[in-house]
Amino acid sequence: MAKLIDGKQVSARVKEQVRLETEKLKQIHGIQPGLAVVIVGNDPASRVYVNNKKKACETVGFRSYEYALPEETTQAQLLELVETLNADSNVNGILVQLPVPPQIDDKAVINAISPEKDVDAFHPANVGKIMIGDYAFLPCTPAGVMELLASTGVEIAGKRCVVIGRSNIVGKPMAMLLLHKSGTVTVCHSRTVDLPSVTKEADILVAAVGKANFVTADMVKEGAIVIDVGMNRLENGKLCGDVAFEEVSAKASWITPVPGGVGPMTIAMLMRNTLTAAMTQNGVEVKL
Ligand code: NAP
Repeated sequence: MAKLIDGKQVSARVKEQVRLETEKLKQIHGIQPGLAVVIVGNDPASRVYVNNKKKACETVGFRSYEYALPEETTQAQLLELVETLNADSNVNGILVQLPVPPQIDDKAVINAISPEKDVDAFHPANVGKIMIGDYAFLPCTPAGVMELLASTGVEIAGKRCVVIGRSNIVGKPMAMLLLHKSGTVTVCHSRTVDLPSVTKEADILVAAVGKANFVTADMVKEGAIVIDVGMNRLENGKLCGDVAFEEVSAKASWITPVPGGVGPMTIAMLMRNTLTAAMTQNGVEVKL
């Protein structure tokens, strides 16, 4: 039976570390990190994420600025707000909650955020830095997965790692981070032929598909570490991962639950990125 990787516990540890560092930053340098979160429209899931981010800012001692713009906001209006936030020295991190309504090009918005304040690490300049392994920020979800893997104490170097999903925000950076830790990495997607034959090779399997209970026990190697990034809402309103938890638990050595696995890590890593941004922008050495 798999041991549970407790995202609530690991994320609480990361946030506590950020809180302590923030306290020091305030006392020694008089700096309080600030995060601006922009939400456009009324998507209920986005609202929940934004509220959670605000709460996390309070927990770690950041200033938080929330901008809730109406659904009909134009791209020009949103870009103008981003420019204002870029120029505001009280704002160290800027996050525009995605998805944005269809009249707005999300790439234009990502490109407009100053790379120094891009705490999501979606800007092409930051993506490029991740590729060469010389980065200030890592995208929050894959960075959170790396913390969860570290919490197991299992060495990644030399392991067969399989990532299901190749999105820019999860799958691709996830693969790159595992590669930086010397895993032997395979990335699967909807055109992968005979997916189970690939996933069954994995010592570390990361599912980022967006389909409830997609990964079943027959796709998993005995003793594998299974990380479930998926967050799928079932018809009954319950949150469910990409992994069929019960049956895969019987086979894996470690597994993340949904909820309580990767989800809380994403916000904790956002807090860490915002602290890093505040330190870097103020010339304070980062040792996190
Ligand atoms: P996405 O952009 O929709 O990407 C899904 C990926 O899964 C794509 O690369 C797609 O392949 C692949 N895929 C779909 N069907 C497949 C199949 N039958 N076989 C193999 N691969 C298949 O999603 P995302 O943004 O990466 O998110 C993935 C999941 O993670 C979602 O449930 C999302 O809600 C969740 N998520 C969670 C967090 C968190 O904080 N926990 C953060 C971000 C995302 P193609 O590229 O070929 O289409």
